[in-house]
Amino acid sequence: MCGIVGYIGNQNAAPILIEGLSRLEYRGYDSAGIAVLGSRGPQVFRRVGRVRDLDASLPRRLAGKVGIGHTRWATHGPATEENAHPQTSEDGRISVVHNGIIDNAATLRERLDAKGVKFSSETDTEVIAHLIARSEAPTLEGAVLDVLSRITGTYAIAVLDERHPDRLVVARNGSPLILGVGDHEMFVASDLSALVRHTTSVVHLDDGELATVTATEFRTFSKDEENTAKIPTTIDIDFEDVGLAGYRHYMRKEILEQPTTIERMLRGRLDERFGTARLDGLNLGPRELRWFRRVKILGCGSAYYVGQMGAAMIEELARVPADAEPASEFRYRNPIVEPDTLYVAVSQSGETADTAFAVQEVKRKGGQIVGLVNVVGSTIARECDGGVYLHAGPEVAVASTKALTHMGIGFALLALCLARVRDLSIADGQRIITGLRSIPGQIEEILTGEPGIAKIAAGLAGAQSLFFVGRVRGFPVAREGAQKLKEVSYLHAEAYQTSELKHGPLALICESLPTVAIVPDDELTDRNLAALQQIVARKGPLVVVTHPGVAIGDPAVPAITVPKNERELDPILLTVPLQLLAYHAALALGHDIDKPRNLAKSVTVE
Ligand code: GLU
Repeated sequence: MCGIVGYIGNQNAAPILIEGLSRLEYRGYDSAGIAVLGSRGPQVFRRVGRVRDLDASLPRRLAGKVGIGHTRWATHGPATEENAHPQTSEDGRISVVHNGIIDNAATLRERLDAKGVKFSSETDTEVIAHLIARSEAPTLEGAVLDVLSRITGTYAIAVLDERHPDRLVVARNGSPLILGVGDHEMFVASDLSALVRHTTSVVHLDDGELATVTATEFRTFSKDEENTAKIPTTIDIDFEDVGLAGYRHYMRKEILEQPTTIERMLRGRLDERFGTARLDGLNLGPRELRWFRRVKILGCGSAYYVGQMGAAMIEELARVPADAEPASEFRYRNPIVEPDTLYVAVSQSGETADTAFAVQEVKRKGGQIVGLVNVVGSTIARECDGGVYLHAGPEVAVASTKALTHMGIGFALLALCLARVRDLSIADGQRIITGLRSIPGQIEEILTGEPGIAKIAAGLAGAQSLFFVGRVRGFPVAREGAQKLKEVSYLHAEAYQTSELKHGPLALICESLPTVAIVPDDELTDRNLAALQQIVARKGPLVVVTHPGVAIGDPAVPAITVPKNERELDPILLTVPLQLLAYHAALALGHDIDKPRNLAKSVTVE
């Protein structure tokens, strides 16, 4: 949600800021703006709507080699031009962009109001601009520090001051901020994707940290004005990964990339000889792995559903009790954190605020937590005691696809490690490894079925409401399938355990309510098929996602057949056709697939 970019160097800032903002568009926003400082003083431009509208509204010649930009996700005051960022001081000298929420903004606003300050927006951010302008500190850094000591809440901010045209001052608390180091130029962004076109040398700020950025250097420091001496790290992102590469939508591009990205993820991580996985980043040796008596997985949305798949894998392979819980709930219920439980935080972006807070809660209570995270160096990745990077490459579409498959595989690897220090035999470990190795090829096979899946999706797109049903290993698959469809097609979809249908929801089955049923070839196949008869008998339209050789009985029922793997790994593969089903339903309905309404890519606010 919401994005920050900043530039200082020897090029014109405006095009760089606009380009950076357009890279952040996928995160979701309602308005955008930039401030550029040139010989004519600071100039601020803001627009409700898209970055391209902002770009079109800019004067032809907008000179200035330092500037800041923002895409806003309104929290205080509606999406209007006045409320868009940058927010400025009364005299226009100070411009501020801000991600997050200032908790004590109302009180500070009242105080400034009493002193006669005229506010021009309803945002919480505006108080920051006024307070900086009124600070008596001799330096911009001093003024920002002054203000940070008075505000509470979460923020990433970037500040531009007409009196100090040679620098930007930025600060971070609970909302990501990264510096990009170039050749006689520096960049600031809330997300790597806005930087990768310019540089691969980056510095991640920590919470409570500030930085001064000039064209040639940067200095990071703490709120006590101690230098924190950060060294830039090199990120490993291929710029091509971030582009559309000829595809119409990122969602489809990311679905189709899975065979390649999964192969990359598995490289060097499978130990055939001992039938286990090599996960050095976990920072846990065999003794420690043995010691855990329980596993608790924390994630939000689809990451939570994949967490449920992961819990099932861990229980089946390692025979350690495991369960998943929404991180958004966990953090608020004063959870009991046990020393012999391994906590696992799952997040694509590594910036999901609810999950990051859950990590902090576990750590505050002395628990041990590892992360399954895609974005290297992100907040959750850094705060966890260790973890497994997903290596899915940048995921741009709001609806997650490849990152989820990678999470599923991450759990399989973790389950192997936990299992092989317990009772899983080498032969069984090798069986899982062979299964993992087959996944990329099997996904390839599923993807060749895309035209058939598209046809089924077009048929389902006319429904008002759908059921997705599955049981035991198939239930998280059904939940994730329903979630994906909701996100991009806006069709109502509800997931249910197949076994629970007769205990209530069967009452809803009729000709206009289709059911997508997950029917793997496993010990429950016959039971599943029997339950589906109850749907057919009530004339409910049915689509099955199943394995070769499962006799559905009725040739009129459309079937999506997925190659069979090891039963523990099947859920990962069963999810893939449901990604295509959601994509094609949304396509048939003509929706903005990569940016579904009301949703943002990384949910960095509570
Ligand atoms: N709270 C600020 C506002 O409403 C910033 C929102 C954001 O993170 O974009 O303007």
